[in-house]
Amino acid sequence: MTDLAEFAREQGIKYFMISYTDLFGGQRAKLVPAQAISDMQVDGAGFAGFATWLDLTPAHPDMLAVPDPSTATPLPWKRDVAWVAANCVMEGEEVEQAPRNVLRRQIAAAAEHGLRVKTGIEAEFFLLTPDGLTISDPADTAEKPCYDQQAVMRRYDVIAEICDYMLEMGWGPYQNDHEDANGQFEMNWEFADALVTADRHSFFKFMVKSVAEKHGLRATFMPKPVEGLTGNGCHAHISVWDIEGKTNVFAAEKGAGQTAELGLSEQGAHFLGGIMKHAEALAAITNPTVNSYKRINAPRTLSGATWAPNTVTWTGNNRTHMVRVPGPGRFELRLPDGAANPYLMQAVIIAAGLSGIRSKADPGPRYDIDMYAEGHKITDAPKLPLNLLDAIRYYDADAELKAMLGEDFSASYMKMKMQEWNSFVSHFSNWERQHTLDI
Ligand code: ADP
Ligand code: MG
Ligand code: MG
Ligand code: MG
Ligand code: MG
Repeated sequence: MTDLAEFAREQGIKYFMISYTDLFGGQRAKLVPAQAISDMQVDGAGFAGFATWLDLTPAHPDMLAVPDPSTATPLPWKRDVAWVAANCVMEGEEVEQAPRNVLRRQIAAAAEHGLRVKTGIEAEFFLLTPDGLTISDPADTAEKPCYDQQAVMRRYDVIAEICDYMLEMGWGPYQNDHEDANGQFEMNWEFADALVTADRHSFFKFMVKSVAEKHGLRATFMPKPVEGLTGNGCHAHISVWDIEGKTNVFAAEKGAGQTAELGLSEQGAHFLGGIMKHAEALAAITNPTVNSYKRINAPRTLSGATWAPNTVTWTGNNRTHMVRVPGPGRFELRLPDGAANPYLMQAVIIAAGLSGIRSKADPGPRYDIDMYAEGHKITDAPKLPLNLLDAIRYYDADAELKAMLGEDFSASYMKMKMQEWNSFVSHFSNWERQHTLDI
């Protein structure tokens, strides 16, 4: 195990940022001087429970964030500080509802089946002006801006700086582009074990925001930051391996059956079946904010397509469905958005997939149509939730998923999300006045 004090000496670290992720996906941290890290590595850094956004009260004892030393990473843009992901503990017990713990439990559940889940994510973001109101590049106005070479080069300094850091950290970045909305970018790196990807996803958001700020910009992962433009997705690619991580158990020789045809094994088909079965409920986690439902269920965008699903369907290499099987041995869930909690999103995918494996779930019919043009013809596939309240209710109705993720976690999560929904609906809007004043 890495000794953090030694790590500090070797790497010239002055401060450790002991970081945990709350139920809303926010990262909270304490900056601990290297001189004090030896005790903190064992005992953890203390946080007042009520202020942690983990659904704790002022009467709870201290919540301790115990660093996972394998994650210690010097900040490439501030090299005397090292970020380290932490697991939340209280009075010697893991805090059930803390997102990294929720994910670790799902990884352990997969291991009980002899399985190891590997994932890659595509965390799209916008670069805005510092006030967050408009995209930062006034010349980025093309009607079809995807892959715009001129526009990506105007942001070269930001994009290349982030990509250089990923290269240096050994993440295996392999491409960067301007995405489908004005002001929107995507940067891709190699898939890895689900926990590694979740930690990197957290770090990526922190890094993108920090580097953007350094350049006088503001980065956002908000699901739909600009009305009428394509939103920020966070597609997840999933494959499942044997416990050593050597053999992809989702990969099948091409054979009979609709999933085998696409290169998914029987186990892969059942895992996918679990995702299909729990889709409406898991949206409460993959699409966790009020704004998320302006990305899925969206009307046509200026570029012509939203690239986000609204129906629970799957297909082969076709980007208009909720699930795409792009090639043998993996599938892509296109549902999650930029607000998804990096840990909970992986956790709910694994939980739903394992439920499918256990029950030998059938993913249902494969549709190969263009959902944007012909989606109305599919009348027997469920629709995704229409808003956050709808999603919370689907989640509440899914006893199996609630139990798998943890009853305490589920109760805390739904409570916090209902508070968010209630805060939203109690907000008095101009729309109401416009539509109601003269009735
Ligand atoms: P696209 O835009 O076509 O959906 P990207 O190249 O942007 O795809 O992202 C693909 C993601 O899927 C990357 O993170 C990649 O590493 C990951 N990936 C590729 N193969 C697998 C696999 N077998 N298991 C899990 N993730 C994978
Ligand atoms: Mg204090
Ligand atoms: Mg992509
Ligand atoms: Mg994309
Ligand atoms: Mg994708």
